[in-house]
Amino acid sequence: MNRAETGLSYIERLARERRGRLAAERLLEQKQRELFAANVQLARHARALSEEVVEQRQGLETARSEAEALRDQTSEMLGELERANAAARTAERRLWEALETIRDGFALFDKRQRLIAANRVYLSMIGEEEMPLAEIAYSDIVTRLAERAFAGAATEVRQAWHEAMIARIVGDEIEPRVIHLGDGRHFRLMDRRGAFGDLVSLARDITQAVAREAELSEAREKAEAASRAKSAFLANMSHEIRTPMNGVVGMAELLCETALTDEQRLCAETIRSSGEALLTIINDVLDYSKIEAQRLKLYPEPFDLERCLHEVILLLQPSAQEKRISVLADFDLFLPTRFIGDRGRVRQILTNLLGNAVKFTQSGHVLARVVGIERGEGRFELHISVEDSGIGIAAEHLDAIFGEFSQVESESNRQFEGTGLGLAITRQLVDLMGGTMWVESEPGEGSCFGFRIILPAAEPITSGIAPQRPVRLQRVLVVAEAQISRVILQRQIETFGLAVTACRSGEEALAAPGASAVDLILAEQSPRLDGEGFVRALRESGIAAPVALAAAEGATLPDLPGVHLIAQPVLRSALFRLLEALSYPALPQGGGGAEEARRRRPMRVLTVEDNRTNQLVFSKMVADLDIDLGFASDGHQAVAEWRRLRPDLIFMDISMPGMDGRETTAAIRAAEMAAQLSAVPIVALTAHAPDSDGAWILAAGIDRWLTKPLKKSAILSTILAFTPADARPPVRPDQPSARI
Ligand code: ADP
Repeated sequence: MNRAETGLSYIERLARERRGRLAAERLLEQKQRELFAANVQLARHARALSEEVVEQRQGLETARSEAEALRDQTSEMLGELERANAAARTAERRLWEALETIRDGFALFDKRQRLIAANRVYLSMIGEEEMPLAEIAYSDIVTRLAERAFAGAATEVRQAWHEAMIARIVGDEIEPRVIHLGDGRHFRLMDRRGAFGDLVSLARDITQAVAREAELSEAREKAEAASRAKSAFLANMSHEIRTPMNGVVGMAELLCETALTDEQRLCAETIRSSGEALLTIINDVLDYSKIEAQRLKLYPEPFDLERCLHEVILLLQPSAQEKRISVLADFDLFLPTRFIGDRGRVRQILTNLLGNAVKFTQSGHVLARVVGIERGEGRFELHISVEDSGIGIAAEHLDAIFGEFSQVESESNRQFEGTGLGLAITRQLVDLMGGTMWVESEPGEGSCFGFRIILPAAEPITSGIAPQRPVRLQRVLVVAEAQISRVILQRQIETFGLAVTACRSGEEALAAPGASAVDLILAEQSPRLDGEGFVRALRESGIAAPVALAAAEGATLPDLPGVHLIAQPVLRSALFRLLEALSYPALPQGGGGAEEARRRRPMRVLTVEDNRTNQLVFSKMVADLDIDLGFASDGHQAVAEWRRLRPDLIFMDISMPGMDGRETTAAIRAAEMAAQLSAVPIVALTAHAPDSDGAWILAAGIDRWLTKPLKKSAILSTILAFTPADARPPVRPDQPSARI
């Protein structure tokens, strides 16, 4: 202790020390506080750190397990990828193996049309075995194909084909092409656009199909030749059968006209009807075989449909009369009657339908109805139906009856004859005409067969059928038992602007008010209305009006004044002629009229026929006529006779040995031209069905034809149609001639 210090008071020193200690204590305290705070901080840090470490450790743990899961996944995916790759390789290999096994060629081109892949068949088409290493274009392939397909052909041919092949792949729809390679293989090249503009090319191997087609076409040719031979055979056979049949049927017809005992008449009638039945069967079989061989052609020409219908009805009239059934026609009054169509075939259809209707009807009526509507350009849609009140057809048989050789097998049907070909032929004919057929039927009630065809009219279409010359009559009394007949006749007459009163019977007519004031009485003959008796009754009650008796052909005209016959069913044109004739009665001829007619020359008819029997049949058929008839037995004789006789009409047999009917006609036509003579009407006599003959017959300069066996009525009407004005009427005045 220094002096100074020693000099300080002890108290001071004590105070100083205390202060110093206090300060030190405060400092210590502060330091301790700071230390504590630092410790607290540190502890907090330490805790945060440890939490962080824990957290990081957990993160690490998660990351590790995720990494492990990923590793597992990757290896699984790698496995799957490996498997998928293997599967893809297998699929590709399979696909290619499949493409290699098919007999067809397959190739794929990219959008620049460079070959990407092709199977061996495709490569073989261009003469390659393996896929070429060098790039090869579609165009080069076509060049190579052309070389192999047209080896011997000119360069232009190859070039043209090449150009066409390339041009066709421009569009989206690529047309297939057939190629015949030099090695005997045939392919159909079918190319398609694929995805990304690729071109997929498929070459179908059609070698077998081509060979089969060649075999088939050979077989077809053989079959066609056989069918032609069959048709020719049938045609010849039918000719061979028809010619002698002409003799049989014609002679039987003539025999029936002579005086015979009942037994002889029965025999002669049987010969005639059996012969006709046989001819119908021959015609059916011939037609059917022609249709089957698709050799049946239609020969359209202008014809009168109404007349055609009436002719068919007239033909069937005798069998209808036997059964006492009436056959009626209802022809739409606002239709033209002349159309362009195959008259023979339309007639055949009508004959089949009406023939069946008459055959299968025992009582009542058969009604043929023709209605039509204009379809523009002068074409008419015609609906032709044939309705009967016959045995009818059960619904289950309706489809079958149009089949060939098909007939309804039932008690009610068995008694009827037939081939079962008629409806099959009818339907085929309607088909051939572009039409349709239908049938409705009720067993026990009747049937209605109909067909629809479109035919052009052969006459200018006028509205209605107003007669060209006004008919001066005003009132007509119609007498007909059947209501249908009354309606039809009434309608027909009313279209001429006449007033009609219709009655059911003669008695009703006689009692009808105003009967004495009518201008015409049109009465339909029937079992209950005897024409002659009716006219007598009329006259007795003071009714003097002219009477027209509508009767079936063959009816005789009562020998009474003011009576006319009109063919039943009544044709519109015939009705018009009758009304016209009654409106403008011919001026009575001077007393010498008949005498004058007798002084005129007879009509000259030349018949060219090589068969003696047929000559005899012909001369017998015209024996009643007042004509000058000559015969020639061959073509040369015919030309000579034509020169000598200068006939008004020639009947020409078509099938003759040496110069046939056509050649003979040509020779006569040439001679006429050379001598500047007008053409003589030539009517062909043909044994063949008219359809096959029709076109060439008319082309050969022949005017008409008649089919053998000849019918007396057909010959008679032909002669009458061609009687020249300066010749005597071939029918003598004492014969019935007042038919309209
Ligand atoms: P076919 O008359 O020669 O037997 P089709 O072919 O003309 O031959 O007719 C076939 C069958 O259809 C006839 O046999 C008959 O059973 C039936 N048939 C045809 N038309 C009629 C009809 N109008 N009424 C009743 N049955 C008919």
